[in-house]
Amino acid sequence: MKPPTIAIVGAGMGGLAAAASLRRIGLEVAVYEQARQFTRLGAGIQIGCNAMHVLRGLGLEALLRAETFYPRSWNNRDARTGEVLFDMVFGPQAEAKYGAPYLLAHRGDLHAALASTVPPDIVHLDHRLEGLEPRRDGTRLHFANGRTVEADLVVGADGVNSVVRAALFGADAPRFTGRIAYRTVYPAARLDGFDMGDCTKWWGEDRHIVMYPVKPDRSEVYFVTSQPEPGFDLESWSARGDVATLRDAFAGFHPDVQRVLAACPDVHKRPLVDRDPLPRWAEGPIALLGDACHPMTPYMAQGAAMAIEDAAILSRCLDGVERDGVTAALARYERSRQPRTARMQLTSRANAWGKGVTDTDWVYGYDAWTAPLAD
Ligand code: FAD
Repeated sequence: MKPPTIAIVGAGMGGLAAAASLRRIGLEVAVYEQARQFTRLGAGIQIGCNAMHVLRGLGLEALLRAETFYPRSWNNRDARTGEVLFDMVFGPQAEAKYGAPYLLAHRGDLHAALASTVPPDIVHLDHRLEGLEPRRDGTRLHFANGRTVEADLVVGADGVNSVVRAALFGADAPRFTGRIAYRTVYPAARLDGFDMGDCTKWWGEDRHIVMYPVKPDRSEVYFVTSQPEPGFDLESWSARGDVATLRDAFAGFHPDVQRVLAACPDVHKRPLVDRDPLPRWAEGPIALLGDACHPMTPYMAQGAAMAIEDAAILSRCLDGVERDGVTAALARYERSRQPRTARMQLTSRANAWGKGVTDTDWVYGYDAWTAPLAD
């Protein structure tokens, strides 16, 4: 038995979840990340029950429950009148129904939790992939720092502008939605006792804002917007936004929103992009995972969840597979994942999740450890 050696490109949520899932079945993995260090991004992240199934399997449930907020629901309200459009109930009710909790986290806490599941010495920072070279047995990876490595199998978990994706299927830019996300995390003490609720999406005509606490004691709060802003398209997690511009953009919204925006010290902003579903994710011994193959708008809060699900399914497809079985296993992984993520991309793009009565079972009721694999 000769198990394949695996190189994962990208140490985001998807790459780390893949590393942990593949190590769980005894495979040898190395992760290559372009960043020189991990930074704690000021952002929140919703962890759907479906993602929690996978994270539980990686041993992270207790840690995440201890560090995150457990919401009663995701409440959807009209931005002007405050009318409740749909209260998507979570808490114990959804946990009983879907078999795992719905949690609201600081993005940095989820990333750190995932990083804690793999030995630090398998994550190689300051390794920006520049190119892939097919070899008789596997692939050679070329990095900007001059290093090259070889692996039997390459997983491209390198995000929306994936170099691996470009190498396999050609380079093209993602689709800009015309919307910008402003976001920030700040201490709840700045709200002077005001209760922003458990998780609320305020729906306006052409814009919205989502807000929730990210700590169990509600000590830190987060919001993220989607709004038109012509002329801004710098894709970066670190670009700063102007708080006054943000407040103006939501001037007509409910007083609760004004309160949260008034307390906000600073913001970051980034354009929202997605892609049409990609029909192919794998070519020979190379496969894509996460935003590299199915970037989506954040309107269902499922992008990272899909990357995390991918990781579990990839490991199941590779379980017990020898080197000469890699191509078939990756094709099976693609067939098992593509329909679900394509549906998620297109449903998310419509931005109607939770605006009215919504069937949530197909999203949160999925357990990647037990879901049927494609033939
Ligand atoms: P990324 O997180 O983009 O990670 C890719 C990694 O690869 C990065 O570390 C990058 O530095 C590295 N990399 C890139 N190129 C190279 C290279 N050439 N060589 C080496 N390394 C490279 N999802 C949810 O599930 N819930 C939410 O609540 C949620 N909210 C969101 C809110 C906003 C505003 C946005 C924009 C997205 C949100 N998402 C959410 C989606 C989620 O952030 C993404 O789907 C998720 O981060 C994808 O993970 P990934 O690992 O595939 O890619």
